[in-house]
Amino acid sequence: MQKPLILLTNDDGITAPGLAALARALEPLGDVWVFAPDRQNSAVGHGVSLHRPLRVESVAPQWFMVDGTPTDCVMLAVRGLLPRRPSLVASGINCGANLGDDVTYSGTVAGAYEGMLLGLPAFSISNASYQPQFWEPAGRVAARVAAHILAKGLPPHVMLNVNVPDCPDEEITGLSVTRMGRRNYQDEIIERKDPRGGRYFWIGGALPDHYAEEGTDFAAVELKRVSVTPLCRDITAHGYLDELRNVLEYS
Ligand code: MN
Repeated sequence: MQKPLILLTNDDGITAPGLAALARALEPLGDVWVFAPDRQNSAVGHGVSLHRPLRVESVAPQWFMVDGTPTDCVMLAVRGLLPRRPSLVASGINCGANLGDDVTYSGTVAGAYEGMLLGLPAFSISNASYQPQFWEPAGRVAARVAAHILAKGLPPHVMLNVNVPDCPDEEITGLSVTRMGRRNYQDEIIERKDPRGGRYFWIGGALPDHYAEEGTDFAAVELKRVSVTPLCRDITAHGYLDELRNVLEYS
């Protein structure tokens, strides 16, 4: 039987150690193909390049570097360049957490989200430290999640967002299925001068904090547990539909 085709992408770029770790972890499970950005694309969200051409360069057998976003990578691969439709799209392993509201900024999550939009089972995976030391434990989690998805699939319009604590296997206390928590971002606008005296700005400031709430992705990772959050495509505020209809609708 033909091995399942597994498409990998990331947002840290094709040379990122997390992508290599993901490829090593998933190679036993299928025929791994990699389409990844040529440079850092963290926090590009679900951006797609519509106003310029995209170049694709083969850097190793079944490894392709794209001068675009993670979403561009998945689109190019699935709609054009792969020899057949993938059985799974996996994005990561990101350097840094993608918890709570991070998922809307995250290029890593967007890579998997694009897979979901294309009707493919997909997950994103992140090492929860901004200075990761342990890639292999997250790789083993990726293999576990991938094997589950390849065997059982996912409901339509659902993807998984996985975060793994940065510690050795024996310090990971388990795996929790969680809901999205809420970030408390502390971004500041930092103004500087360029060498010719012109103003420029960095969006920066302290690392983002979060609200401590039970059952969330944040709570799991704080307890050194792996967090798996199922995300769905429909972000409609269903509970508010009727109230809004009553006051706004007309004909
Ligand atoms: Mn990243």
